[in-house]
Amino acid sequence: MAELILVVEDELSLQETLAYNLNKQGYVVETVGDGIAALEKARQLHPDLIVLDVMLPGLDGFEVCRILRQEMTTPVLMLTARDDEIDRVVGLEVGADDYITKPFSMRELMARVKAMLRRVRLVREETAATGALGNADHQLIYDDLVIDISRREVRKHDKVLALKPKEFELLQFMAQHRGQVLTRELILEKVWSWEYIGDSRTVDVHVRWLREKIEDDPAQPQRIVTVRGAGYRFEG
Ligand code: CA
Repeated sequence: MAELILVVEDELSLQETLAYNLNKQGYVVETVGDGIAALEKARQLHPDLIVLDVMLPGLDGFEVCRILRQEMTTPVLMLTARDDEIDRVVGLEVGADDYITKPFSMRELMARVKAMLRRVRLVREETAATGALGNADHQLIYDDLVIDISRREVRKHDKVLALKPKEFELLQFMAQHRGQVLTRELILEKVWSWEYIGDSRTVDVHVRWLREKIEDDPAQPQRIVTVRGAGYRFEG
């Protein structure tokens, strides 16, 4: 099935050129010219990739990307006009997957698009191969906390948290067993497995680090709750 690309560009001639060229490469293309329409179309169509201009009427590309990031994992390729936009585009706040600076050649854009879609396919195949997730949603969402399993990323209040790999794995494991009491031994076995033969304080230390990152008040944890004499429980 042909992949669907949403092109968000208010400059009509460029919008048309992009649509024409992507179409020629075999992609199905939808186009919109402003930020609000971009959000609506993205929610409605769930495209495989979004090409998103920064300067747009209404809602700009930064804002569109930031909102989309909370809702879907669709890769976003941003079109920037100025070098000073780049830091924001790839920064944690906006979080575009890639960017290209205007003016660009169609050839260069096609290469980026192809590479990004290939990465998405690889992640999907890997996920399917591990079988752990199947066709399930790759995001676990608890109010303002989003655990994005396919991107191995955690966001809180739209901000990407800097988690260490083990912190991510611990959080993922706990969230996937939410509501259950998890003993330190079980967590050690499942999250650290054979690579670690240690004592259960390792778990406590990582829980403390995680709480500092994901809890509103780490001293009064609402997500990772201590179950006295037993272990921890993730509240979803
Ligand atoms: Ca523009």
